[in-house]
Amino acid sequence: MRVRFPPSPTGALHIGGARTALYNWLLAHGPAAQAEAGRRGTLVLRIEDTDRERSTEANVAQIIDALSWLGLDWDEGPISQIANTPRHRMALAQLLADGHAYHSTADAEVVRAYKERHGADRGFRGTPEADGAVRLRVPDEGVTSFVDLVRGELSFPNASMDDPIIARADGSVLYNFAVAVDDLDEGITHVVRGEDHISNTPKQLLVFKALGAEPPLYAHLPMLLGPDGKKLSKRHGAASVQELRERGYLPEAVNNYIALLGTGFAPDEEFFTMDEMAQRFRLERVSRSPAVFDEQKLRHINGMHLRALPPEELTRRLEAFTGRSGLGAAVEISREKIQTLADFWPLAGFIFDGPRDDPAAFAKVVGAEGARDVLGEVRRRLAALERFDAAAVERELRAVVDARGLKPGQVFQPLRVAIAGRTVSPGIFETVALLGRERTVALIDRALSS
Ligand code: GLU
Repeated sequence: MRVRFPPSPTGALHIGGARTALYNWLLAHGPAAQAEAGRRGTLVLRIEDTDRERSTEANVAQIIDALSWLGLDWDEGPISQIANTPRHRMALAQLLADGHAYHSTADAEVVRAYKERHGADRGFRGTPEADGAVRLRVPDEGVTSFVDLVRGELSFPNASMDDPIIARADGSVLYNFAVAVDDLDEGITHVVRGEDHISNTPKQLLVFKALGAEPPLYAHLPMLLGPDGKKLSKRHGAASVQELRERGYLPEAVNNYIALLGTGFAPDEEFFTMDEMAQRFRLERVSRSPAVFDEQKLRHINGMHLRALPPEELTRRLEAFTGRSGLGAAVEISREKIQTLADFWPLAGFIFDGPRDDPAAFAKVVGAEGARDVLGEVRRRLAALERFDAAAVERELRAVVDARGLKPGQVFQPLRVAIAGRTVSPGIFETVALLGRERTVALIDRALSS
């Protein structure tokens, strides 16, 4: 089995592109490849850089960086499509010589009239490339069909197909031709890509046929939508892999979520490693209906992956993410409360940088009736503690609750706001223990004098 991922480097790697890359990776690493050849498949990375204006080195670097971050490694490439220009031109010359392609001065009108005489049922587009371009000769009759591994048999009546332009007058080839020649040359056996390419497939099949070659198998993945049912885009939050990374998602969670999206599993309930996913992944299980990408579900599954990391590893990643060091103890007491790496600093940053005061919380909680009095007693008790650990802190705080007949929150919240400046923090006992007696008492004094 030989599969490929051929991004066009005209921008960042989007979530849809990551899904295509991942599904190809899973296919190559899964049982289908194994059953076919007794070893895993080969993933080819091809950079479709024929759009000279929009393809940039920076975009290539960005895509490669995103794939590496996701751990989606490839076996061959990156192969530059533009570097294959001589081969594309040779193949084009062959088709022209064989009569499978022709130089056409016919504009779209002429082609349309010809097609209509042969029973075509829809109109044809005129394109600026038309003048002097090379067109592929589509048979007048019959159908071009293939069995899509996701969608089943798909048929396209030839009479309804324009003779596709495969090269401009200057001999530079167009997408459908270049892709088919590259897939052929690279020995690709399975083309797995987005549904937006379905209409290209018959054209590419006709190129294979004209070249006298066996085409690969095709599988088209359903559209990716946002939770509102509209095509997934920036409006729905993160749209690129880089953005997901900046928002503190773990690559293993992103892969897990995307792998299960629209493949018949509950994406927010199933927790898999890459190897387990490759073992379970089946193209036939990919749903034909659009898949909904829901960042809330990704958050949820990210929290599961985050808590599954060994504490030292989570600390290492949080240190890389925040650019700070010495986070170990604070990570330990925060891990149950965060779902992304980005959640950590807003929750626990005060342990390092001191409170970031929320004046409204201060006024409401520390200013509540009796709160200063409670804080005063908490201060006295904590200052007198012999062993300053979480269990001892808890004992003292609960003693205040009981002695005064208060609800726990009436004691814990004023203390929380005093030490964190806000109403959120990791667990209060653990946090106070970590801050230590001296800092805790000083922070309470600060709150009391505010
Ligand atoms: N370069 C194309 C794209 O980014 C992919 C072409 C293909 O998969 O055949 O959409």
